[in-house]
Amino acid sequence: MHCFICDNTTFFNFLDLGHQPPSDAFLKSEDLCKPEATYPLELCFCETCGLVQLNHIVPPEKLFVDYVYNTATNNSLKVNFYNLVETLIERFQLKNTDFAIDIGSNDGTLLSNYVPYGVKILGIDPSSSAQLALKNNIPTLVDFFSKTVAMQVEKKYGNAKIITATNVFAHVNKLNDFLAGVAELLTQDGVFVSESGYLLDMITKLQYDAVYHEHLRYYSLKPLKMLFAAHGLEMFDAEKISTHGGSIRIYAAKKGAHKVLDTVEHLINKEEAAGLYKKETYADFAEKANQNKISIQKFISEQRGMGKRVVGIGAPAKGNTLLNFCASNPGLVDYLVEKSPLKIGLFAPGTRIPVVPESRLFVDQPEYALLLSWNIADELIPKIRGAGYKGKFIIPTPAVIIV
Ligand SMILES: [Zn+2]
Repeated sequence: MHCFICDNTTFFNFLDLGHQPPSDAFLKSEDLCKPEATYPLELCFCETCGLVQLNHIVPPEKLFVDYVYNTATNNSLKVNFYNLVETLIERFQLKNTDFAIDIGSNDGTLLSNYVPYGVKILGIDPSSSAQLALKNNIPTLVDFFSKTVAMQVEKKYGNAKIITATNVFAHVNKLNDFLAGVAELLTQDGVFVSESGYLLDMITKLQYDAVYHEHLRYYSLKPLKMLFAAHGLEMFDAEKISTHGGSIRIYAAKKGAHKVLDTVEHLINKEEAAGLYKKETYADFAEKANQNKISIQKFISEQRGMGKRVVGIGAPAKGNTLLNFCASNPGLVDYLVEKSPLKIGLFAPGTRIPVVPESRLFVDQPEYALLLSWNIADELIPKIRGAGYKGKFIIPTPAVIIV
């Protein structure tokens, strides 16, 4: 195992979440009799460059094939992408002669926001969601992005003024090949914009459930600066955004093409102050995660011992990390209620908890509902209450809270 950024081979392994199946590998009922592939899910910290990454990498072809997540089903992401494209159009003065690429374009939601401006667009995505994009007339190349693919795109369509990569830049396996492709495809003043979960939020908010096999690296700015420099690129702006419980949006370009703003150093100072480059911070994080697991298991088993029913709200990928990490016998919750028709009728990977329509919650009225998308608790609780649920909510992290 090598560090993705500095190639170092000695790490501080700090959090073991156990062997888990891929978090999006929901099972059909006919799969329940078959064994599931599980892989170690463990975090490590590179003391040389400061990167946090998984210490076991699952081959990508085992992960992204049957992707059941579509951007269009997530309203806050849709709004985020709309705002992002509006910002890019205005800030970088995009015209209808410019070309914008989205890597990991999913169902084309982000790219669709360029259409009214006439900007030339292309999505690149290997998953089954790309078919939805094609159906919606969003030009999409069904492939993993690489330097080779970048050169083919460059030859066929020319260089890109904007390349976005949201929630994918921390997921790509061949990171150096990916960035070499980005550098190849950008115009001289072209901008690479990425959004990824932010390590600073993950550590300070105890988001161990942000860890899953597809999510190979947990970014902070200091190691990223080093990574971009190795490809002749430069991070010139960064901002915190609220998606996925706390993310970081970064802007990079060819060195010297854009003025480097203070925001980058300002956030790096915050990272240093929060201890992101000291291994003690990670030992403490792991200790808290293990304590949290015990608190969740203890609370739920006590309630069940008193005859109370506990179900789960939502079936997000992060929910599976938490459910598998905190697994108990019988299952931590009786079922998961979900709105997405793509997941209803399936079973959660690992725990095999059934996913049922949300309406079931209002009929059964279980005493407790475990909130798996706890990062959007403020948005979800009033919605579900308003729809008629009378029981209590369990917010699992950073500490077990009953609402
Ligand atoms: Zn490193």
